Amino acid sequence: MPRILLSAALLFSTALVAPVASAHKVHFSKQTQPTPVVTTDLGNGLYMLQGRGGNIGVLVGDDGVFVIDAQYADMAPGILSAIDGIAGDTPRYLVNTHWHGDHVGGNAIIGKAGATIIAHDGVRDRVTVDVTRDFFGQENTTPALEPEAWPVITFNDKMTLYLNGQTIRLVHTPNAHTDGDTFIIFEEANVIHTGDLMFNGAFPFVDITSGGSYAGFAAASEKILSKTNADTKIIPGHGPLAKPEDIEGILTMLSDTTRVLQAEIDAGKDLDTIVAENPLADWTTDWGRGFITTQNFTKLMFADLSAEE
Ligand SMILES: [Zn+2]
Repeated sequence: MPRILLSAALLFSTALVAPVASAHKVHFSKQTQPTPVVTTDLGNGLYMLQGRGGNIGVLVGDDGVFVIDAQYADMAPGILSAIDGIAGDTPRYLVNTHWHGDHVGGNAIIGKAGATIIAHDGVRDRVTVDVTRDFFGQENTTPALEPEAWPVITFNDKMTLYLNGQTIRLVHTPNAHTDGDTFIIFEEANVIHTGDLMFNGAFPFVDITSGGSYAGFAAASEKILSKTNADTKIIPGHGPLAKPEDIEGILTMLSDTTRVLQAEIDAGKDLDTIVAENPLADWTTDWGRGFITTQNFTKLMFADLSAEE
């Protein structure tokens, strides 16, 4: 896991937990990191759990506990404790939205607690081997996860589960945040978990080294939006609970910033010049929080747009 991602998740969790803590049940992890797990009841047996790392979705009921994403290993005991508090049970299924460490780090512990791990093929491809990536000019190796953390059921396009009165659609969208992303629809409850296909209120991070692209990210956003109506509750990968109009805002921002940067590239400017001139400065107030600063977003989008030419 690149250091930048780790610190990023910390920033996100700090920003997230404080404003909502008073309104929800709080369970504390017993590990060295005393990050609280904040539980939000979404109705119909569905919950959002927030701690350190990607937001977690939980569906409870007579058929067993279904969980989306696992944050970090040191968060897993607190997550299991929160789930036990809700359901009096351990997870039966765990779905990973993609392979990043702030979403799969707790896999082994939750898997050993009895969960069957499900993910897109691209997740298993990466967590079973050491992955070396170039990250903002620095080479970084993410070691393979231990075998207990590996998905044992994988799919390449879509999968459907029928549990606890919900039709649960797992939908893959190609080359977006990574090349192995899944978003999850709970049809009857009208709730969607986006994984990192949504960063609510922040510039989206696209992992180009894992096959991600901003065009794919926008296409994924459109696809998610097409599955919503005005009442849909959206659990984003990072940030507070979202509404469909929040995705519309992201699409507008992506379209506008892409147009601005493409004009700079078409004018023949190189990356250093563009970063120095900071043509996306106007977007910083609304989007420049968390780990993707305006400068990092500019660098990522420049690399992405340059690669497509
Ligand atoms: Zn991610």
